Amino acid sequence: MNGAFRPLDVEAIRGDFPILKQEINPPLIYLDSAASSQKPNRVIDVLSDYYRTYNANIHRGIYRISEKATEQYEEARKKIARFINSPRACQIIFTRNTTESINLVANSWGNANLRAGDEILISVMEHHSNLVPWQLLAQRTGAKLRYIEVTDEGLLHLEELDRLLTERTKLVAVTHVSNVLGTVNPVQSITAAAHAVGAKVIIDAAQSAPHLPVDVQAIDCDFFAFSGHKMCGPTGIGVLFGKLDLLEEMPPFLGGGSMIRTVQREHSTYADLPQKFEAGTPSIAQTIGLGAAVDYLNDVGLDAIHPHEQELLEYAHQKLSEIEGITIYGPKPRHKVGAVTFNLDRIHAHDVAGILDQDGVAIRAGHHCTQPLMQKFGVIATARASFYLYNKLEEVDSLYEGLLKAQKILIRRRG
Ligand code: PMP
Repeated sequence: MNGAFRPLDVEAIRGDFPILKQEINPPLIYLDSAASSQKPNRVIDVLSDYYRTYNANIHRGIYRISEKATEQYEEARKKIARFINSPRACQIIFTRNTTESINLVANSWGNANLRAGDEILISVMEHHSNLVPWQLLAQRTGAKLRYIEVTDEGLLHLEELDRLLTERTKLVAVTHVSNVLGTVNPVQSITAAAHAVGAKVIIDAAQSAPHLPVDVQAIDCDFFAFSGHKMCGPTGIGVLFGKLDLLEEMPPFLGGGSMIRTVQREHSTYADLPQKFEAGTPSIAQTIGLGAAVDYLNDVGLDAIHPHEQELLEYAHQKLSEIEGITIYGPKPRHKVGAVTFNLDRIHAHDVAGILDQDGVAIRAGHHCTQPLMQKFGVIATARASFYLYNKLEEVDSLYEGLLKAQKILIRRRG
């Protein structure tokens, strides 16, 4: 992580993102990176270069452009392994997204290892991606789903962990960073506590890998899942890291081409890692594009990105707190990254987002795929502004002005 820009030169960074340089009126103020980030030229150029100059399927062609595509695809795997400190590149499995990575574990490891009476421990702040696959697994196997509750401040109730973790707990599935509250969970200590009762741990890193330096060996988790599109990479590419012994003993998730060694009429044998879990033609361009995104993040430096985002978050908290009738959900900025989530009294979050959009401010409104968390806070929806390396303080001012405008228009209209 030898950053080219340190401290972060936001204007230079913005210059790397063509969508932010568009001459449009009003200009785009993009505060929805937690849903999907924008892409720098470096990533867009790599996609274009692949399709223009060496588009071919991988791992089979005995000709030059196929060999180049294979090389670049496998190079991306190595870059991603280094990015999260995976001991070996073959422990990086390419999927479509975080959702597919989690479903892979639920179906492959879960079906093989869970029985009636076993318990899966998740939390109330999970994205539906790290909840519904475990509900389905529980229904298939007779295992029971248990929850770590969330405090009113938006932190995990970790005092309950000792009571919830028992010899029945086979898996703990928890998010590293909440996509709604921004809460950063202490995944290293949760993993240690889970291992102490013999449970395996999967971390949903969809919202941490883009923002924080992550080290799967330091966390010591068994599985770690994230999506390329939230970290400057393309859509259609996700990652699953797994511990070697677990991945080796797990049965395949999807069957088809590329994942086999031999196929007989009645049975097949399977390829070594990582191919065993990569059936069919993968997202070749997108994987190479994710490799370029990792290069980009490394060059800028997550150690420089994180303080910049913290500054935005502190400023957003301070400005938004000045607004009468606002409720901000979640902990103080020092316990979180990336997002500020709120509601304005008497105004639906969708209406807030609609008014902001008139001035080019893009935020997200809704349940954010976290209905149990919404239920905990007694709301059906919230508004969420989320930040990334290319956002600047003035954009927080625009958000603030837009919220005052929304109150003026919508509350006046309703009398
Ligand atoms: N987990 C978290 C915490 C998320 O924020 C998201 C995306 N909003 C997901 C999982 C799912 O990611 P994807 O849609 O890329 O599979």
